[in-house]
Amino acid sequence: MSNHLRKSLLLYPAGVILIMAVLYLFQQRAPRPSPSPRLPIPDPRLANLGVAPDWTTLSRYNDVLTRAEFVNALQDVYLLGDNLHFDITEKGVTVTSTLSPPGPPVSFAGQGTRNPPPRYWRPASEIPAGPSGKPLSGIRIAIDPGHIGGKWAQMEQRWYQVDDTIPVMEGDMTLLTAKLLAPRLESLGAIVSLVRSTCEPVTELRPHDLTEYASRLLPGAPSDEVVSLSEKLFYRSAEIRARAALINETMKPDLVLCLHFNAEHWGNDPSKPLFSNRNHFHMILHGSYMDGEIAHEDERLELMHKIFQRVHEEEVPLASAVATAFLEDTGLPAYLYRLGKPARQVGPALWTRNLLANRLYQCPVLFCEPYVMNNEEVYNRVQAGDYDGEREVAGKLRKSIYREYRDAVVKGLVNYYSSRPEGNP
Ligand SMILES: [Zn+2]
Repeated sequence: MSNHLRKSLLLYPAGVILIMAVLYLFQQRAPRPSPSPRLPIPDPRLANLGVAPDWTTLSRYNDVLTRAEFVNALQDVYLLGDNLHFDITEKGVTVTSTLSPPGPPVSFAGQGTRNPPPRYWRPASEIPAGPSGKPLSGIRIAIDPGHIGGKWAQMEQRWYQVDDTIPVMEGDMTLLTAKLLAPRLESLGAIVSLVRSTCEPVTELRPHDLTEYASRLLPGAPSDEVVSLSEKLFYRSAEIRARAALINETMKPDLVLCLHFNAEHWGNDPSKPLFSNRNHFHMILHGSYMDGEIAHEDERLELMHKIFQRVHEEEVPLASAVATAFLEDTGLPAYLYRLGKPARQVGPALWTRNLLANRLYQCPVLFCEPYVMNNEEVYNRVQAGDYDGEREVAGKLRKSIYREYRDAVVKGLVNYYSSRPEGNP
């Protein structure tokens, strides 16, 4: 071996080590690009941003419901059309799936065998009553102020403004209501968490992160349509999925209050909104899946959680108590869905619908829809802002719209949970 070659062979590993050391140091100093959040691949068998179900997770529901209880809930509450996706035998139920391997059937409870439903939330009957003066003692309540508001309100199309008056922004109004409501519920003994406490999104995703996903859903579409869909995927799908993760994995409440304000169509120009002479109230419970929705395999899995955890049985009396208080305190008429809309009436001002929020939040959800934001009286009440006591607004002495909203929710919850059996606080 020549001297020259021996020298090269000795220098080669030293060179490699030096290059690696430089690269290492460079990597340590260079600003790291934030990792693009991983997104599922769009599939027509899934809802937007949904993932393929793991059917084996359903085994925990073995022997929880009888066959009749399952079938009645499926047909009377949850499906608007015929059952095409649940194979029901005398012994159990299997969900049909082409995306994931089917799990074993979930067995029905029979004579003498019955497991309690596994769930993180508790119905009123399982939460011991507290000391007098604390009618909400021990109740875990998550408040979900609907929408995002702030600088996102126009993108969300939950914004209008007449001339240079105070803009009407639903996401800001729900947050203001939530902040008035939380301390009042706490003073009555509840353990309260706010799903958001600012006008910023809970999700880390932003519309630009969803452009690729949107363009795969709309192949060949013009770019403005792709941008518009990526925005909807951001403020609707990604945002609600992030809130659901927070609620189901961290907060684990006994109920979620989804606070909203309703609206009638205000036209295409939010700087020249059309006013509506209608003003009304209703609440939405979970149910009424359309055929196109239950065609999504992830929605079938989410529905199984709702049925086996017997969510509807708690949701109805709870929502009835709150709806009664709203109808009494606000004087608003109960809203009626038009025939043909995918909703079923289950009580005065109570309707079932399959919304992303009330499907993903795995506990009773009270989705409140009082006040029509583009009704002129409501507009005037928004202009009057929040205030203590009563003032003359739109020709009548009234509480602020936010405190009237708060007080109705509190009254309904107190009425419902006051009937709890006596227990050890
Ligand atoms: Zn809303």
